[in-house]
Amino acid sequence: MSRELLAVQRVRKSFETGKTKALEYRIHQLKGLQSFVWERKKDIAEALKRDLYKSELGGELFETVVLEAELKLAIDRVKEWASPRPVEKNLLTLSDEVYIRPEPLGVVLIIGPWNYPWTLTLLPLVGAIAAGNAAVVKPSDISTNSTRVMEDYLPRYIDQDVYPVVTGGVPETQELLKLRFDHIFYTGSTTVGKLVMEAAARHLTPVTLELGGKSPCYIDKNCDLAVACRRITWGKFINCGQTCIAPDYIMCESSIQNRVLEEIKKSVEEFYTDNPKASEDYGRIINQRQFKRIMGLMEGSTVAFGGDADESECYIGPTVLKHVTHESKVMKEEIFGPLLPIITVSGVDEAIHLINQGEKPLVLYVFSHDTTLIHRVIAETSSGALLANDCIVHFIDSALPFGGVGYSGMGCYRGRHSFDQLSHLRSCLIKQLNMERVNAMRYPPHTVQKLSWARFFLLTHVNLCRVRRMVLLTVLSGLAACMAQRFL
Ligand code: NAD
Repeated sequence: MSRELLAVQRVRKSFETGKTKALEYRIHQLKGLQSFVWERKKDIAEALKRDLYKSELGGELFETVVLEAELKLAIDRVKEWASPRPVEKNLLTLSDEVYIRPEPLGVVLIIGPWNYPWTLTLLPLVGAIAAGNAAVVKPSDISTNSTRVMEDYLPRYIDQDVYPVVTGGVPETQELLKLRFDHIFYTGSTTVGKLVMEAAARHLTPVTLELGGKSPCYIDKNCDLAVACRRITWGKFINCGQTCIAPDYIMCESSIQNRVLEEIKKSVEEFYTDNPKASEDYGRIINQRQFKRIMGLMEGSTVAFGGDADESECYIGPTVLKHVTHESKVMKEEIFGPLLPIITVSGVDEAIHLINQGEKPLVLYVFSHDTTLIHRVIAETSSGALLANDCIVHFIDSALPFGGVGYSGMGCYRGRHSFDQLSHLRSCLIKQLNMERVNAMRYPPHTVQKLSWARFFLLTHVNLCRVRRMVLLTVLSGLAACMAQRFL
């Protein structure tokens, strides 16, 4: 029997005891995860340094602070999220109990990526625990140091019979994918996302796919270019460009291209000095395979600035490319590295046309002072998210569902959205065994009169709150009139 099968069997058995459903248990596990993140901060920071050369403070900002906020929110709100949700009543359900009851799905498989190995693996776990599920956590085999810390320490803080960490590369993940889960939450490339969905289909397992793709960034000429370029530079070059929601490429009119270049260069120097290689805050490419792939993408484009690299350290400096067209190599796949191509377009019409020719992106960025233009871009395109006049920060707002559409993914998460994504929203309708005459209209023999009653009940939309308010008002004014007659 394989190690993966044994682990999943153990988890399922634990789930079947029903212990994960108790709110106190969920909160206790979330607090355990909270202690893990807090107490193992140093181990996490060291692992991130070794994996991706993330600085201690940068690592904390982009990985553990987001997790801490999500955990706090889940602990504070899980009781409310898990409560039955009453729904609007109609004429037929007036005297019934009608509500939605969120229920755990069962055993969730979480497959994490290497670029933000903590946030993107443990955020879905927060949702899984809050929703009362068990979960098998499979961190990426590429961010080896983070995976080792997770495997060594996480079981000391949360119930390892219910939330085990299973490590391994492609063969082990494929073994896992042969098994039956109640949900698979996958974060990674679109190519592997398709394999995950294929494997899930064999068991009719629902999936959340958090995938990638090319996220465009349009800069309008009616814009504060200095601010726009600072925000874009930040969003592009954090984690050395290895961010799924990094702006992949810029589109702007040729008249502002040189200003855009200048401002980005200025911001790079402001953030990382004129020698980013020596900056504490500038990361490295995860491995040599990715290094070679990214370097290869520069072929055929002109380096406007940057372009320096050191294979022995997996270092590629912040680089901006010009004279790029949609036929250039760098435009043929997601860059996922510190290269920022600029494509010149004639204006927003052409930008919208080019965006709509590609797959629906994970996020679409637009920078402009003109709100009409921003709303036009929203109305005429589609993407997982749209962010105007900033980069990345929509991910931080857990009120917004985070996820892709089409080739950039399916399903979403963060905060309550994670809870709902990993719950079954069960419809509950509890009727009484009285008032049988009302049901006559649906019982045979069917007659024209019964049908017209059915039509009346099904097609009449009554705002019951308003009706209740009106009835109350009528009763109150009747009472007032009575009192007035008696005492005045
Ligand atoms: P990846 O798809 O190579 O790996 C992700 C996970 O899948 C890892 O745990 C890995 O072990 C496993 N895996 C890899 N190959 C597999 C196979 N053949 N069969 C089964 N499992 C396999 O992705 P990655 O390289 O870690 O991440 C890069 C991609 O992920 C980029 O496209 C990026 O945009 C995307 N991404 C998306 C998000 C998001 O939230 N939407 C976040 C991070 C990364």
